[in-house]
Amino acid sequence: MTRGKQIEKDLAHLRVPPNLRPGDDVRAAFRFADVRAQLLDAARGRGLNLGWLCADRHVVDGRGDRVALTFLGRRGDGGFDHTEATTFAALADASGRFANLLVELGVARGATVATLLGRTRALYESALGTWKAHAVFAPLFSAFGPEPLSTRLTLGRAVVLVTTPTLYARKVAAVRDALVDLKHVLLVDDAGCEAVDPGALRQIPGAVDLAAALARQPATFDVGVTDDEERAILHFTSGTTGKPKGAVHVHGASVVHAATGRLVLDLHDDDLFWCTADPGWVTGTSYGVIAPLLCGVTSIVDEADFDAERWYRVLSEHRVSVWYTAPTAIRLLMRAGTELPKSFDLQALRFAGSVGEPLNPEAVWWAAENLGAPFHDNWWQTETGGIMIANVVVDAIRPGSMGRPIPGVEAAIVRRRDPDDARRGVEVVADEVEGELALRAGWPSMFRGYLGDDERYRACFVDGWYLSGDLARRDVDGYYWFVGRADDVVKTSGHLVGPFEVESALMESDAVAEAAVIGLPDVVAGNVLKAFVVLKPGVVWSEDVRLSILGFSRARLGPVVAPRDVAVVDELPRTRSGKILRRLLRARELGLPEGDLSTLEGQAR
Ligand code: ATP
Ligand code: MG
Repeated sequence: MTRGKQIEKDLAHLRVPPNLRPGDDVRAAFRFADVRAQLLDAARGRGLNLGWLCADRHVVDGRGDRVALTFLGRRGDGGFDHTEATTFAALADASGRFANLLVELGVARGATVATLLGRTRALYESALGTWKAHAVFAPLFSAFGPEPLSTRLTLGRAVVLVTTPTLYARKVAAVRDALVDLKHVLLVDDAGCEAVDPGALRQIPGAVDLAAALARQPATFDVGVTDDEERAILHFTSGTTGKPKGAVHVHGASVVHAATGRLVLDLHDDDLFWCTADPGWVTGTSYGVIAPLLCGVTSIVDEADFDAERWYRVLSEHRVSVWYTAPTAIRLLMRAGTELPKSFDLQALRFAGSVGEPLNPEAVWWAAENLGAPFHDNWWQTETGGIMIANVVVDAIRPGSMGRPIPGVEAAIVRRRDPDDARRGVEVVADEVEGELALRAGWPSMFRGYLGDDERYRACFVDGWYLSGDLARRDVDGYYWFVGRADDVVKTSGHLVGPFEVESALMESDAVAEAAVIGLPDVVAGNVLKAFVVLKPGVVWSEDVRLSILGFSRARLGPVVAPRDVAVVDELPRTRSGKILRRLLRARELGLPEGDLSTLEGQAR
């Protein structure tokens, strides 16, 4: 791991005074209870209702005319075919209509409303309207095929599905008979929120033309009083380590979204924010929908998929000041070269964050040099609901580290006293020792259950700690360093090796753009490491290249940790949220069953 130089921050010359002031005393004085009290004040007796706080609150506070979301339509050539802005007032209005419609349809409090939509206006309005009606919002990624959809809709017992006629025909129609709980299919026009073709409506049981139905509803909706513990969101994990789990979140999670929006992403009122994640994943909901809206900040929503040139254009033409993205995309930008960013004006960019996978130090330095802003890595999971460990504006960045626990969150590295007996509990290990990353249970956005799997939920908590399943270590200054998922870590010749360390080193070689490392059984060493690499543009695979990569990694890592073998691939298998599926590489290599592939990128669209 490159631990050498850190990126110092010149606090005196920051363009905008950071929301989080420097100093450990500031962190120690922070209380989630204070953020909660502020939100409760703003809610004026309504409790923490996510829908009301994200839109109506700003109207009541006289900020209804502000743009909440700017949607960029997709167009193949890198341009934006239409740009449409929605104000907070318009969002309050549309979500109020949506909530009234749910009530009229008889959708009970706590019932699940699923969405299967692209990143269009209807998705955001449905989310807020669902929360206002005290129902549970379950966003599903629009690229899922029929099987993964059916599994999730069934597990979530979805009563309502919001989708388009095309998505319905391609993905839902074939499995509709199995969806016994599904009563209402709210259809939006494929292009957005226009009326749908009446022919489509006739063929779909329970179909409602959403635009027409909303037009008939009143815009005002009385949200009543919301309890912190009311269920609000059902999110499925990425399925990187196995079958995706359904994590349940509550309205009270808004406290963490608001706090991290301000303190980690450093959102200020006049910022232009862009979270590139799809709301089908937890990042796209917590930080693509909730956090910026709670903070009253304008966001960009790009309907199109990744395209390096388009992304630079979004950053420059829309003067994005705070950007939240993921390592996969960052590595693709790096692959696209250093010339491309030079032709765009990226000066508005003030803060860049990354989440979802380990971020190799190379990428942090690259961004500092080529985008004018280094990436701030941060760590969290579907289960944690919000950012838990982060590199923040006021701290020096240690490239390769996830940063420090956010104020209000207590983290530790722990080990089980007896790996075979959970009842013996865990103990906190010393600095620099590897172990499992744990969080003191009870932060407001903690998941409240795995749907249909209480036992698994209970097993995550030991001695008052939530055990994350990720291995990490903490340095003496309190920065956390990711080692690997417990499932991906390899024991070789008596050493535990995290794939990230090896992959990071491989990516520093001249030939390698991306790498994934797995362990394979070996009679002598227990396991040996094998690397799968994607080559940098222009590099041609040959025996010399193979030997040079192996030689480079041996020089960097030493013979024990370096991979024994390296193979070249065109692409690494990934989840749709961009995470490398090492378990699939391993299963294929060993001829084992491939397991749950519902989230594999490139599966049935
Ligand atoms: P599943 O639980 O179904 O296997 P998943 O864990 O990939 O899927 P998510 O909740 O979307 O599903 O991802 C959280 C995981 O992503 C974390 O547990 C961690 O392994 C990884 N991760 C997130 N952020 C970082 C980061 N900054 N550095 C390293 N790993 C990260
Ligand atoms: Mg997980």
